[in-house]
Amino acid sequence: MTYEAVLVSACLLGVNCRYDGTHAWCPEVFDELWRSYFIPVCPEQLGGRSTPRSPAILDGGDGQDVLRGKARVLNERGEDITTSFLKGAEETLRIARLVRAKKAIFKDRSPSCGCQNIYRKEGLGSGFGVTSALLAGNGIQVFSEEGNPLVLWEEMDKGQ
Ligand code: SF4
Repeated sequence: MTYEAVLVSACLLGVNCRYDGTHAWCPEVFDELWRSYFIPVCPEQLGGRSTPRSPAILDGGDGQDVLRGKARVLNERGEDITTSFLKGAEETLRIARLVRAKKAIFKDRSPSCGCQNIYRKEGLGSGFGVTSALLAGNGIQVFSEEGNPLVLWEEMDKGQ
């Protein structure tokens, strides 16, 4: 059996890297990871943000808009922290290229890792986080742990 490298949001694997110093352990994801070489990543820590840290929201669009320079990331004090989010996305892409990962399973709703929904200034809405947008734009499929992880594993079984 050929194993495939998959990036995974570190918080889904029990790493205490969330903004409030907790994790988002997801047993459904962990139970299936034996099918891959999984590489835990936390884009916000890779971008130089501390833990715990102020929560972030997207202002003016989603992660794709941030990459185009049309939106920004703010902390709860309204400070612009876009630069660290862009750095975290670039570092995550660097890791993906190192291990030749073509897939990622990421924590939804995060301004970095979200791939279906994200927290915007107006509230929860559809869209990509900054890192998910960069990975997707570079040919990496990003799956949400809140979607159907089976889709990911079925694709692996088919060798896609
Ligand atoms: Fe989890 Fe991603 Fe947030 Fe890090 S940036 S805590 S991996 S959702």
